[in-house]
Amino acid sequence: MMVIDAPGLAIGIRERYRDVVSEKWPVIVTPQADELLSSWLHRLAFANGIAPRPFARVLGLNAGMWSAALDLKLPADIATLLQAHTGISEHQLSAMSLAGSPLKPLLLPLRNNGRRDSSRWLQFCSRCLAEDAQPYFRRRWRLATKACCSKHGCGLRDRCPSCRSRVAAFDQTELVPQHHCARCGYDLRRASIVGVGPEVRRLDRCIDDICRLEAITGSRASVTVVQRLLGMPNVAGLYATSPLTSLSTSTRIRCVERLAIRSSDWLTVDDDVVVTHWRRLILSAGGHLPLITLLADALKRLGQQPSITRPPPAADLSALLCAYASITRSPHRRWARTHHQPGDHQAAGGQRG
Ligand SMILES: [Zn+2]
Ligand SMILES: [Zn+2]
Repeated sequence: MMVIDAPGLAIGIRERYRDVVSEKWPVIVTPQADELLSSWLHRLAFANGIAPRPFARVLGLNAGMWSAALDLKLPADIATLLQAHTGISEHQLSAMSLAGSPLKPLLLPLRNNGRRDSSRWLQFCSRCLAEDAQPYFRRRWRLATKACCSKHGCGLRDRCPSCRSRVAAFDQTELVPQHHCARCGYDLRRASIVGVGPEVRRLDRCIDDICRLEAITGSRASVTVVQRLLGMPNVAGLYATSPLTSLSTSTRIRCVERLAIRSSDWLTVDDDVVVTHWRRLILSAGGHLPLITLLADALKRLGQQPSITRPPPAADLSALLCAYASITRSPHRRWARTHHQPGDHQAAGGQRG
């Protein structure tokens, strides 16, 4: 476009305008730790002055559970559009997505049948939301196996305590943050704490660690462990014919309460004795987050990409755990060589066998 200011004087502004105005939307929102893609999209919309529901049209989508559907499958054209307008990388988008997760069968379904005891698609911890500088929803809150907050030790919620409706930020037509109920406006950060016993917290944490272990390694055993976790209501004798994913968070907490005082063989025993051994180790330790983190780091060093979304195909969990065990012994051997302590060589050698 050329602007004619006076006869004979033409001011070209196109290039200068292009210099200062890019394709980027005015406000860039940085993804937070373990943030769910839909949560980031709602925050992005809000920060740029658009309520989530009309923001769906910006992406060329219809209303409904548009953002929750993107968590599961992000079409290439929308990924490209988001990268162009926000500067976010493909890797960051992928890290927020749940597409391709081996734990997908354990995700809470995207439906709302209105029954009191049925599941909702997303859970939350009110204390986590209250402590967030910018409240956001975590990927792990989508899993039916997660009923407690690992950080605060309380039970999760899956509906607004005021009007009992699900988290429905995707349907929000007003410009309010996503931690306000889209139906009644209740601030979810104010929801009271759901108390759970230490045995429930412990089993919840162990199940979470076992799921992470299976997801990191992408082992064949993950198929059977997923089936067992879906059958938790049957083992607990509570809503025995219903899969875990169909039950409300409060009902699932009751299942975990019952299972926490029983033998854990239903979860730990596998055809592979090494897998059984490691699951029992996790159970006896009451969860093993540091160990899982070390394993993920070890796999990274080996050149693999431990990802909840893209596991190595049909990896052998047993072999990976053995490899991990030898890796974790290596520093001890290096230490022994460095310090030349008589007996240390023997101790390190003993471990090797
Ligand atoms: Zn929390
Ligand atoms: Zn409400």
